Amino acid sequence: MKAFAENYEEARETFLAAAETAGFRQLRFRVPHEDSSELFLDFALLRRDPKRVLLHLSGVHGIEGFAGSAVQTELLGDSHAEEGPSLLFVHGLNPYGMKFYRRANGQNVDLNRNFRKGAARPNPDYALFDGYLNPASLNSFRSDRYRAIWKALRLGWARAAKGIASGQATHPKGLFYMGDRVQREIQLLQDILRHHCGQAEELTALDFHTGLGRYKQEQLFVDFDAEPNAETYVRETFGRAPDQPKDLTYIAQGRLSDAIRETLPQTKIHYVLQEMGARSQLKTLDALRLENYEWHRRPAGSDRPVEVVRAMMDAFCPEDPSWRGAIVAAGAERWRQAERALAALPR
Ligand SMILES: [Zn+2]
Repeated sequence: MKAFAENYEEARETFLAAAETAGFRQLRFRVPHEDSSELFLDFALLRRDPKRVLLHLSGVHGIEGFAGSAVQTELLGDSHAEEGPSLLFVHGLNPYGMKFYRRANGQNVDLNRNFRKGAARPNPDYALFDGYLNPASLNSFRSDRYRAIWKALRLGWARAAKGIASGQATHPKGLFYMGDRVQREIQLLQDILRHHCGQAEELTALDFHTGLGRYKQEQLFVDFDAEPNAETYVRETFGRAPDQPKDLTYIAQGRLSDAIRETLPQTKIHYVLQEMGARSQLKTLDALRLENYEWHRRPAGSDRPVEVVRAMMDAFCPEDPSWRGAIVAAGAERWRQAERALAALPR
């Protein structure tokens, strides 16, 4: 395994060079923002069987893209036979978040809570925690945390987790914000899928995330509501059961997978969110709170302070060779298994 990139530019260059060497077709789109003109959504495509497509997504939550990018670079180094499913890598779906060490994008939108057709479902419990998630001053960081734990205990952990993380449309400066329109990053992904995967009869999407769950632990999340046979697929393909998020007993609003399904209504889609755990939930939330606090108050065009970068990287991409090695191995393993499953389908 190569060393992980420490910044967005380095991750992107490494990915593009690996795609070039592997003979993948590259497609790039600018995602403009006043903080940087050098933000790109990059796609690398190996066109083989157009009826079967394997898709890999990194950096839906920007900062998580450092690990996802390392997985993709590793996989591009595999030897690719002439026959097999078409392969599509999406590098840094949220390039702004990667460049500026954020989970949300440059509009403070969570790209895995953004896609929806109608109005958002109300989530009144979020407001109970906004003062904690988006504190008015850094001095109240610790006392806000105790108050939030107290509220969560009274509400019940499951309901509190749903209130905090299932998506909210009422606090544009808060966390897990859904946005008021579908974001450009999602539209670009939909355009690419429409143009390059329109013939797909079967498509498997692996969406690589980090930060939730125990250190180095893998969780595989599927859409039980949209895919009734998801459990069988995961068992047969990966040799284990999918995870039912124990304390996340809700369906998040505005999922990216819904955007993929809507784009390719004729395609049989398996969507698996691979989540690799790192720090504790409270520690991770602390990193997100600090980052969000600083971001809303940043001087225009400034770099992120060292303590913000350090806290976010530690929460989502710990600088521990054994964590990084395990995460890349797990990401690559699931991809190879999914590719074998697609290749083995009867024609
Ligand atoms: Zn994520």
